[in-house]
Amino acid sequence: MKYTHVENYINGKFVAASTSKKLAVISPVDGSHLSDVPLSTSQDLDTAVKAAKAAFPAWSKTPIKERVQVFFKYKTLLERDIKELAALCSEENGKTYSESIAEIEKSIELTEFATSLPQLVSGEILEVSKGVECRTEHVPLGVVASIVPFNFPSMVPNWTIPNAIALGNCMVIKPSEKVPLSCAKLASLLQEAGLPAGVFNIVNGDSEIVTAICDHPGIEAVSFVGSTKVAKIVYQRATSNFKRALALGGAKNHLMVLPDAKADMTAQNVAASMSGCAGQRCMAASAMVAVGNVDHIIEKICEEARKIVPGENLGAVINKESQERIEKYITEAEKQGAKILVDGRHAKVKGKENGTYVGPTVIDYVKPDMAVAKEEIFGPVISIMRTSTVDEALAIENANPYGNAASVFTQNGGMARYIIEKASAGMIGVNVGVPVPREPFSFGGWNDSRFGVGDITGKSSIEFWTKLKKSTTKWNPEAGVNWMS
Ligand code: NAD
Repeated sequence: MKYTHVENYINGKFVAASTSKKLAVISPVDGSHLSDVPLSTSQDLDTAVKAAKAAFPAWSKTPIKERVQVFFKYKTLLERDIKELAALCSEENGKTYSESIAEIEKSIELTEFATSLPQLVSGEILEVSKGVECRTEHVPLGVVASIVPFNFPSMVPNWTIPNAIALGNCMVIKPSEKVPLSCAKLASLLQEAGLPAGVFNIVNGDSEIVTAICDHPGIEAVSFVGSTKVAKIVYQRATSNFKRALALGGAKNHLMVLPDAKADMTAQNVAASMSGCAGQRCMAASAMVAVGNVDHIIEKICEEARKIVPGENLGAVINKESQERIEKYITEAEKQGAKILVDGRHAKVKGKENGTYVGPTVIDYVKPDMAVAKEEIFGPVISIMRTSTVDEALAIENANPYGNAASVFTQNGGMARYIIEKASAGMIGVNVGVPVPREPFSFGGWNDSRFGVGDITGKSSIEFWTKLKKSTTKWNPEAGVNWMS
């Protein structure tokens, strides 16, 4: 085991869970045993919630301009330790080192945004009638929870940590049991940045802790990022306990490629979108709709895909189960008559025989009712469907239950505008393969890709992490009695 076993982080200290139940943390890169993660109990969660609750009065009363000083420092620590964080992220998640560097850079950008929160939450004040003022304030909620997936061990925790905490909340986070090491490192950096004990806590575990979070009476709000199946469970359970909830789910993102698209640029973007982070991104292109004759672009996509080599510029998928599931999708599509133009099955990386790799895969002549066209594969696979018109392409995109992202590749501005309007997704790209909005723009999909109101990052997150207090005050008795008295 390369690292000592993972511990929970409660009240400013790394502590053992109250159980000996644990899971092995295995590196997808080479199958090596990195560490063990405890499957904490609801008692551990309760201890963390109590610590967070005890820290809340002082933290929430600290002026926001002071609170964000911690995040100015945290940002410099992320910058200082970027290489170490990226190496850890690659080891536990399997993505390439340069993808991990980009993930930490994005974490830095998210933290930068949090430091600007004092400018965004100053509230409003207005004299609404003679001597009478109305005023609004964003008030923190209390103890909030964040449940995160495996695919971005640093970035997704940083979607929630800086904003929720800078806005005055105290947090309990549950990392993915597949990648718990990065989050522990974030806790050390927050501590070094001066965050008071109890404001940020980690409880490791699996679905049992998620259920306990949804049921815990001391937790006011639950944010979740993961698959749609679990997002629905969490959203329903948390809201049935009258908690505020925002649950981001899975995705099936469509790229629409029109014949006038710039061929080289489109091919490079499509290949990068489907294979980046081994296709394990909720923003990955996983379905492409070829409108009209775009054979010349498909040929170039295949050329680009062939340049993507597992173990070199393509990372591993998270585990063996995932590798087998992805390969099964490809085999099923082939059996149903789709044509495999580039085949990533049975990928092996020399010296890393126990790593879990799938090579880039391009599947053509996919029918909209095939599983590869409809379901989230979460691997470096693109399924190409063919249509004659843009409206047929949009009908395919609109029919899929998800709604994270969609993109169009074209040189026709009017057509791009039409697709922006008609696509049923929260984030749309024009000549962009991965249309992730950058701060201060917020991140969030539609339909089965998000349950709850608002987005998880950017300005939109302020509404989720705070409640609005409205006060009406009268200081001049001469104002007399009126309908407001
Ligand atoms: P997952 O849903 O399996 O797990 C997410 C979290 O839920 C983990 O912490 C896990 O421990 C917990 N969990 C798993 N099963 C549970 C259950 N039955 N009950 C309660 N909790 C449970 O997701 P994952 O495999 O870790 O991550 C990949 C998924 O996340 C993909 O579907 C991807 O699209 C999605 N994702 C979405 C976004 C977005 O912004 N919409 C971002 C990143 C990832």
